[in-house]
Amino acid sequence: RGKQFARGYTVIFTDDQDAEMREALALERALREANLEQELYLLFQPQFDLTRAKVVSFEALARWQSPTLGLVRPDRFIRAAERAGLIQNVTRVLFGKALDALYLWPDEITISFNLSAQDLADRAFIFSLVAQVTAREIAPGRLEFEITETAVMKDIDAARVLLENLSALGFKIALDDFGSGYSSFEYLDQLPLDKVKIDKSFVRKVAQSATSREIVAGIIKLCSNLDLKCVLEGVETEDEMRTLNPLSPKLIQGYLFGEPMSQRDVLGLLLAAEQVKDGMTAA
Ligand code: C2E
Ligand code: MG
Ligand code: MG
Ligand code: MG
Repeated sequence: RGKQFARGYTVIFTDDQDAEMREALALERALREANLEQELYLLFQPQFDLTRAKVVSFEALARWQSPTLGLVRPDRFIRAAERAGLIQNVTRVLFGKALDALYLWPDEITISFNLSAQDLADRAFIFSLVAQVTAREIAPGRLEFEITETAVMKDIDAARVLLENLSALGFKIALDDFGSGYSSFEYLDQLPLDKVKIDKSFVRKVAQSATSREIVAGIIKLCSNLDLKCVLEGVETEDEMRTLNPLSPKLIQGYLFGEPMSQRDVLGLLLAAEQVKDGMTAA
């Protein structure tokens, strides 16, 4: 179907592209009208330390409960927020909620927070997040920022300087989705990383592919040699775990060990594991 544009040329969209564009615009509109504080919330997915047999951290994962669109996944609304120029509002609200949650967790439990490409591109904005941490007297070492290769790719020098600043303040930095997309070992050398998260697409393939298994084994070994923590993302089944075990992974994040859960369930889990002192749970 053709569409007539002002300058007089015609662009041909397929029905699929047309539907996609309409959906994207509907998302942006709903986001503009949203009460972000009310409609955005976080779920927390445990990161399990196999050697110590306990949960050591949770990744904060955003959800948007829109009154008009229903539940929207972050893969869709983070990009929409970036397009609509709303990403800083979204990130600020989510970050505040992450700190609220962390506040009730025991000191040894850390939180991972995802930063988008646009978040990372604005130094002043990142430091406004740092100020929130300082104001609430939370130890920076309990907070880990997850970044992706795509987010640092555009300006690696600026990203490195910013991440070095954060690292010097005591914040932890994790490289997310490693092995997917435009992975480059260069980043392991260039950025002040504490942790690498191996993309779940690898874990998905280890059972069937000896090559994937060798790649994952190699990355785990490499991280260990570089003194980087390494998380296997997306472990769903016992079968996958059995295949992964010989590779001696240390940290696992995946449905097998816990799905993204509410703060109430986090506190319940920590209490059951006696990781929360009595009386520390939220009312
Ligand atoms: P991510 O940072 O790589 O997060 C991991 C994603 O994998 C999450 O999807 C999680 O629910 C999913 N996952 C975890 N374990 C398993 C498993 O065993 N199997 C499968 N199939 N999936 C698993 P989710 O929550 O939909 O988030 C998608 C992406 O959205 C995240 O990928 C992250 O890039 C982005 N995101 C989430 N929250 C935020 C946020 O607060 N800010 C920003 N900028 N991005 C966010
Ligand atoms: Mg992440
Ligand atoms: Mg990931
Ligand atoms: Mg991702």
